[in-house]
Amino acid sequence: MIIVKTIEALQEAKKTLSGDIGFVPTMGALHQGHLSLIQQARRENEHLIVSIFVNPTQFGENEDLDAYPRKDDADIKICTVAKVDILFMPEISVMYEDDELSIGAPARRGYVLEGEKRPGHFDGMVQVVMKLLNLSSASNAYFGKKDAQQLALISQMVKNYFMPVNIVACEIVRDEMGLALSSRNVYLNEEEKVRALSLSSSLKAATKLVMAGEKNVEVIKKEMLNVLDLADEVEYVAIVDRTFSALKEVEIGNSIILVAAKVGKPRLLDNIWI
Ligand code: AMP
Repeated sequence: MIIVKTIEALQEAKKTLSGDIGFVPTMGALHQGHLSLIQQARRENEHLIVSIFVNPTQFGENEDLDAYPRKDDADIKICTVAKVDILFMPEISVMYEDDELSIGAPARRGYVLEGEKRPGHFDGMVQVVMKLLNLSSASNAYFGKKDAQQLALISQMVKNYFMPVNIVACEIVRDEMGLALSSRNVYLNEEEKVRALSLSSSLKAATKLVMAGEKNVEVIKKEMLNVLDLADEVEYVAIVDRTFSALKEVEIGNSIILVAAKVGKPRLLDNIWI
């Protein structure tokens, strides 16, 4: 594995590759969720690039940019074992200059749900993901359904800007109890981890209702909120279609049920595709 920190070194390293490139962008503190994307990309492409970059432009002023977990040494080991070809770990100054030309998230889809709770988050996210996709020259780029709205916006960006890359949506990886893995789970103590299970439990309750024939979104959301009683603060429960438009009735095959809630310090996200 080659570790590169500059654009020049990345371009030089890419010259040694011929054939399909798979790309997995991350913010590091890698866990099994990231690893599942890396392993899928490894299987489906001749070459594999992973990036680790904690992107400042997608963090709000009161968010955890400085405290975001960083585990470079462990991450490098994980990528080596996973047979990554190139690990790109740029500094902020490599990725940005002053007074940049910038793209932004779309006015509606980029400003509901996560976009409403974290104004500007998706502007920073599309900005960095466009840079990273362009730098990687990937044929296939892998993103988790865990961040469903991010995935939808990246797919839209690639479509709207005619970018020659295939976006691959990867399943959510959970721990044995059902908690969706996240780098921010390190903030949870044991008691909070148990209460955090209420997110996946609320999705299970919603799925059970849908399976029993319930389609009414308000009825399903009410049941989810009952289950989410153990969370410290529910930020939203929502049922949207795959373009993130709100639904009145669940549409089988075209719906995503989402929850965001605070348990202890972190905001936690989870969702299920129906
Ligand atoms: P992050 O490092 O949090 O920016 O995540 C990098 C990529 O890993 C994103 O595409 C995430 O959606 C994905 N990811 C994070 N957690 C999980 C998980 N539990 N299951 C599947 N993918 C995940």
